[in-house]
Amino acid sequence: MSIQNAIQTIQAELPENAQLVAVSKTFPESNIEQAYAIGVRDFAENKVQELTGKYEHLPKDIRWHFIGHLQTNKIKYIASFVHLIHGVDSLKLLIAINKEAAKNDRIIPCLLQFYIAQEDTKFGLTLSEAEELVQSEEFKNLQNVEIHGVMGMASYTNNETQVSTEFEQLAAIFKTLKIKFFANKAYFKELSMGMSHDYHIALQHGATLLRIGSTIFGNR
Ligand SMILES: *Cc1c(COP(=O)(O)O)cnc(C)c1O
Repeated sequence: MSIQNAIQTIQAELPENAQLVAVSKTFPESNIEQAYAIGVRDFAENKVQELTGKYEHLPKDIRWHFIGHLQTNKIKYIASFVHLIHGVDSLKLLIAINKEAAKNDRIIPCLLQFYIAQEDTKFGLTLSEAEELVQSEEFKNLQNVEIHGVMGMASYTNNETQVSTEFEQLAAIFKTLKIKFFANKAYFKELSMGMSHDYHIALQHGATLLRIGSTIFGNR
């Protein structure tokens, strides 16, 4: 299937409140241009250097999402333009993002990443760690970051019941944080979950941002 057909197939499956983020990591700029040509504007990368290179060469109305593990010393390279940072898993990282955002005189939207998989390779916070984070004085003083929601990755398994349980858990975390800490923050609305192999399940649990790469661009 062509890149454009794959995108149209996915978009036809999405409810109104869900949006495709095309994960272009490792794929060439020509592939991004093909997706761009049919209207895709949200792309995701997980390496700072690859992201900055693509940012420089490609149209400036692309919304670049960062979905990797972000090192504090590299934030400065993406702070001026990044649209949304999906994988924030510590107060320390948030403070560092805030600092670079302030230098660029902007607010950087972030998602808190949660640990929901039954695997020890995945990063993320627990709900109690996140509650502690958002209640801290340090967090409340951050003027240049906004938490727009949560992000997570399910276990890499064919067991659909397990994946379903993990996405349900992330949806519950989203709801809890919304009610307890972000009830009057309209921007807290994103539930970033679902990849090529499990996005149908993520949609059943209310995903708003689907991070899909290989179904669109092919195997890496
Ligand atoms: C690579 C990646 C994806 C996309 O994975 P595909 O299987 O190619 O759809 C989604 N989220 C994160 C965090 C990734 O690193």
